[in-house]
Amino acid sequence: MAEFFNSISRRKFLLTAGASAGTVLLAGCLGNPPEDVGGNAAAPTTAQPVANISSEQAPETTAVKLGYVPIVEAAPLIIAKEKGFFAKYGMNDVELSKQASWGSARDNVEIGAAAGGIDGGQWQMPMAHLITEGVITKGNKPIPMYLLAQLITHGNGIAIADKWQGKGVDLKLSSALVSQVKADGKGGSRFKAAHTFPNVNQDFWMRYWLAAGGVDPDNDIDLLPVPSAQTVANMKTGTMDAFSTGDPWPYRIVKDKVGYMAALTADIWKNHPEEYLAIRADWVDKNPKATKAILKGIMEAQQWCDNFDNRQEMANILSQRQYFNIPVDILIDPLMGKYDMGNGRKIDDRTMAPLYWKDEKGSVSYPYKSHDLWFITESVRWGFLPQDYITNNAAKAKALIDKVNREDIWKEAATEAGIPAADIPTNTSRGVEEFFDGVKFDPEKPEEYLRSLKIKKANV
Ligand code: CA
Repeated sequence: MAEFFNSISRRKFLLTAGASAGTVLLAGCLGNPPEDVGGNAAAPTTAQPVANISSEQAPETTAVKLGYVPIVEAAPLIIAKEKGFFAKYGMNDVELSKQASWGSARDNVEIGAAAGGIDGGQWQMPMAHLITEGVITKGNKPIPMYLLAQLITHGNGIAIADKWQGKGVDLKLSSALVSQVKADGKGGSRFKAAHTFPNVNQDFWMRYWLAAGGVDPDNDIDLLPVPSAQTVANMKTGTMDAFSTGDPWPYRIVKDKVGYMAALTADIWKNHPEEYLAIRADWVDKNPKATKAILKGIMEAQQWCDNFDNRQEMANILSQRQYFNIPVDILIDPLMGKYDMGNGRKIDDRTMAPLYWKDEKGSVSYPYKSHDLWFITESVRWGFLPQDYITNNAAKAKALIDKVNREDIWKEAATEAGIPAADIPTNTSRGVEEFFDGVKFDPEKPEEYLRSLKIKKANV
């Protein structure tokens, strides 16, 4: 694999890895063929609330095409469509398009819906920023995107192959394990870890967890983008050690006795930012009322999702063939905050479940700019973005975030939708964040955070 990396440019690697990784994403692992890949997964709505919109709020168009990946992060989009919340605000023709991989989503938003792609949809962080900057687009063409809402917190985790049971690969890595991994790293049998797309959430969660335990993800192990089904097959045969991904994947790995869960992302950083709604800036600028109508539908869906009395119905809807195409019993336990971690640890805690509207820290839906800044800072930490984004008081990072993050549109939509003022944040920063290893991220001092980290690529 080292030769593979050396033989191609980093740029080409990003594109090819992104395009191939996760092509069989969810369905493959679960024994079902991928379907509707990149196609139209639209389904009839089950409810049609009476439209209740004033003429000045009437959307410019009733149609938009939004991409999604079949993991729990997509729930607000699917529920807004299925429960009629988009239609309630005049968006009668929202088309949800299942994406074969994160690379496909990126390619489809570059094309745009008018040319057969998508207008926007569900994204890992900081994909909207990387696409806006042209870092991960073809020919490095900048495609301005607007980040409009956070879709979810939690719902992700780190799965470990069963051969590591009882050997110190848990939420906190044992020092004996770290010594062994470092020794192996210099020899032939390197620890192998996977995610489905480079330089975004799943990559960051794996890196954060490893580095907090004393393992350098760039030098001590191999950390690679690998399609999910291949990762699980490799875990079964013992050639893949760790896998960072979203529900219901980690849970399925435990159920199938392929491995166990060392950590939920809720363990690593409780109430952390996860995936977001972002749409092409040109679409939003052309359709500002329709954008707010989409947001209102999603906000209502998020509130519906956070009523645990609705979670069985939610699992029933998400598990349908045109969406996740999985047995409903794989979804319901994680949605209720019940995790059998597979190593003797059992969690039954709704504050650690996937949450969509509110969590213990406040709003989930509102897109805090301070969270964008953590992702940009972490990108600099690992050498995914140049250091000048964060040096000089993070001026370059803040300029990018101000361009991409449209929390102002979120607030306008929330106000128009009658969301109580108490649920509308008044500060674009959520303040100081703390991780499971005691490290703190102060959004006022991102460079200080970088300096405090022992394992990093950035030279600060
Ligand atoms: Ca995720």
